[in-house]
Amino acid sequence: MRDMQEIRTFRCKDLGLACEFEEKAEDENELMKRVEGHVQTAHQMNPELPEVQEKLREAVK
Ligand SMILES: [Zn+2]
Repeated sequence: MRDMQEIRTFRCKDLGLACEFEEKAEDENELMKRVEGHVQTAHQMNPELPEVQEKLREAVK
């Protein structure tokens, strides 16, 4: 079982992007919401695409 208090971290660098963006949240869904907003505006990625979703979730540590 995942510890719900565990801090989840996302870094654009883990996607191979030359970007210093880093986001942390205790809730993975909250984290994904913020990350999706960032990649959409900063990287012109469409977070609604399944392959983009997959990439983003894989990058979450
Ligand atoms: Zn970025």
